Amino acid sequence: MSQPLAEIPVTDLKGVGTALALKLERLAIHTVQDLLFHLPLRYQDRTRIVPIGSLRPGDECVVEGEVKVADVVQGRRRSLLCRIQDGTGTLTLRFFHFNAAQKNSLKPGSRIRCFAEARTGAAGLEMVHPEYTKLDSDKLTPVAENLTPVYPTTDGLHQTRLRSLATQALTYLDRQGLQELLPDNIRQQWRLPELNDAIRYLHHPPADVDQPLLLDGKHPAQRRLAFEELLAHHFSLLKLREKTREKGAPVLQASGQLTQPFLQGLPFPLTGAQQRVGAEVAQDLQQPYPMLRLVQGDVGSGKTVVAALAALQSVESGLQAAVMAPTEILAEQHFNNFTAWLEPLGIKVAWLAGKLKGKQRETQLEAMRNGEARVVVGTHALFQEEVVFHDLGLVVVDEQHRFGVHQRLSLREKGRNGELSPHQLIMTATPIPRTLTMSAYADLDCSIIDELPPGRTPVATVVIGDERRHQVIERVRSACRDGRQVYWVCTLIEESEALQCQAAEVTAEQLTETLPELRVGLVHGRMKPAEKAEVMGRFKAAELDLLVATTVIEVGVDVPNASVMIIENPERLGLAQLHQLRGRVGRGSVESFCVLMYHAPLSKQGRERLKVMRETTDGFKIAEKDLELRGPGEVLGTRQTGMMQFKIADLQRDSDLLTRVKQVAGQMHGYPQHVEPMIRRWLGVGEEYGNV
Ligand code: ADP
Ligand code: MG
Repeated sequence: MSQPLAEIPVTDLKGVGTALALKLERLAIHTVQDLLFHLPLRYQDRTRIVPIGSLRPGDECVVEGEVKVADVVQGRRRSLLCRIQDGTGTLTLRFFHFNAAQKNSLKPGSRIRCFAEARTGAAGLEMVHPEYTKLDSDKLTPVAENLTPVYPTTDGLHQTRLRSLATQALTYLDRQGLQELLPDNIRQQWRLPELNDAIRYLHHPPADVDQPLLLDGKHPAQRRLAFEELLAHHFSLLKLREKTREKGAPVLQASGQLTQPFLQGLPFPLTGAQQRVGAEVAQDLQQPYPMLRLVQGDVGSGKTVVAALAALQSVESGLQAAVMAPTEILAEQHFNNFTAWLEPLGIKVAWLAGKLKGKQRETQLEAMRNGEARVVVGTHALFQEEVVFHDLGLVVVDEQHRFGVHQRLSLREKGRNGELSPHQLIMTATPIPRTLTMSAYADLDCSIIDELPPGRTPVATVVIGDERRHQVIERVRSACRDGRQVYWVCTLIEESEALQCQAAEVTAEQLTETLPELRVGLVHGRMKPAEKAEVMGRFKAAELDLLVATTVIEVGVDVPNASVMIIENPERLGLAQLHQLRGRVGRGSVESFCVLMYHAPLSKQGRERLKVMRETTDGFKIAEKDLELRGPGEVLGTRQTGMMQFKIADLQRDSDLLTRVKQVAGQMHGYPQHVEPMIRRWLGVGEEYGNV
């Protein structure tokens, strides 16, 4: 048997030396198979000759004509200008780089065929540096039979090079082909073309292909590949889940010894949703394999209590629980809550964050190590090497969106206790649209807290242009006069945290000047954690009326008396982020306001986003809308981490395929031998999947 295409290095191809191989590596192309899966971004149509008279700016096409004049002109730059004519019109060709031979070849009277994009020039339409060939009057020069692919490329790697490599790779495909991993009956049922045909087709589609369909990525050949890719991701997540299941976890019995007094001590009864989710978690914790549960609950739905219940179940069974938050402010807030809740029950709560240094840090570390601390709250500092747990039974990760998918995977490995892995509870306030949950979180069980505690009045949201800033300021003044507290949020200016903090500083100064009767505080990301915590503490204790902040307050901070929020330039933020921010108000029983103060003019998308914010406070609806407007990379927050990146599939465009993936995965039970190769084909043997 010949070598599989996935094992033939590109250097086996004609003309590929080390330099070219390095460039290809930048495109993640190492093998002949990689080349085959490196699909065109778009296509050029060189299959027909377009009459010059019908050209419009932006058209990229082939024209043919007779050279009328060709002159070197001395404008701002020396250039060779050539005019051609075909009986329907004339067109200018412009060359900035040319040599004498080229100039001589473009003699008046000769016929040429060129290809480029037509643009509006000084004297009508022109093509700049077209590709061209001289036509021989005796011979018929055929046009291309197929559309010409345009591949994603990198610096110094020309399209023509990539095209010839792809063509070479296709000859390998013709000779031996790639293994078809989708069984015939499934392909027929779902009308999916054969793998090799699909690949061949997409590299060189015939002239009569439905081009708009192809450009939208919805051609059956594309959908077939996208489908297999989604299926491969699904399988890999299932595998991950199975692997976790194979591991043991401590059985955490729910005796109620601690949870009962805890619940009795709370000033409120649990909502129905909290009870249901709490029970789901409690059930999982009693299993001998690790829980992997994602709890989605809108901001303010009361996830912290559910986390506390889980932690108590671990403590009841004699094991520690760790609670991890993404920021120090949040971790500290949790620490305060947990201390207030648990110390009366005789449970020692330890605390660890990056800012904790020296002797204090040692004390906390020691308490975790010797098991004196039963519950540990902290930031990701909890998972540094020096941290040793005595007997960890449960890890709670709050607002895991901030941690990214990578960390979620690596977290499972941390805190491993001999043969046993701790249970894991992941909480997020950013609801994930259902379609995404199915693909991105197939390795997790999901619970949804779909009910807010009673007595909350929804936040009334208004959208106002910043030319009415003074009115907004008056509103702040009167709200504070009524004893309310106000957040004033300054959003990101460009991608610079420094600038953002600066803007917040300036705003705080201006507001202090304009509102001298108010006590104004400031928090931003460049302050030391201790300073931040100090200001937050004063705001929480109602020693400040107005808190000017950057988006650092986005997640989780809980000050029920703060009932007004002004967000400057909300058009810069995604919906999920706006929703998070707005969730900081509306936590008490008084009516809350959120003022979205935009800077005109708004883009169409910007307008639409703000409209969504005005019309709904339902986090799930907002998440669906966010997905629609921004795409899944942003929504999942995986852009930075590089996970969940698809070669071909697009979670949004192909969302209808996602709903089939689960079903087909079930149908493929009869073909277990196809699963591994499929995962390998699409995901490689990355560490995330290989080692977990
Ligand atoms: P989340 O983390 O889901 O955004 P929190 O856990 O911070 O929400 O809870 C928000 C607020 O609601 C807190 O002040 C909390 O004490 C309160 N709360 C939680 N559960 C209930 C309930 N069942 N009834 C009334 N208030 C509740
Ligand atoms: Mg929270």
